[in-house]
Amino acid sequence: MRMYEDCPHCGIHFEREDGYFMMAVFVGYVMSFFIAVPAVVILYFTIRPSIWGYLIGATAALLLASPLIFHYARVIWMYIDQLLDPRREDEL
Ligand SMILES: [Zn+2]
Repeated sequence: MRMYEDCPHCGIHFEREDGYFMMAVFVGYVMSFFIAVPAVVILYFTIRPSIWGYLIGATAALLLASPLIFHYARVIWMYIDQLLDPRREDEL
């Protein structure tokens, strides 16, 4: 669950400022929604468990996907940030 501090290819520093990746949490929420909801829908159309079954199924899906969510939320956040507030030459 760790990541490089700087890009090994171009040397760009990922964390522009303290708390830079806090916004990635919100990207992660959106990604989690798009994983949990399909898991619940699949459960509904297959085994139709009790309410606890949905909860356990969605939790299991999110736990399995959490390493992907963790990393890709940060990557997507960096793309959004670069789009909205591009890095200057002296920041690279
Ligand atoms: Zn790079």
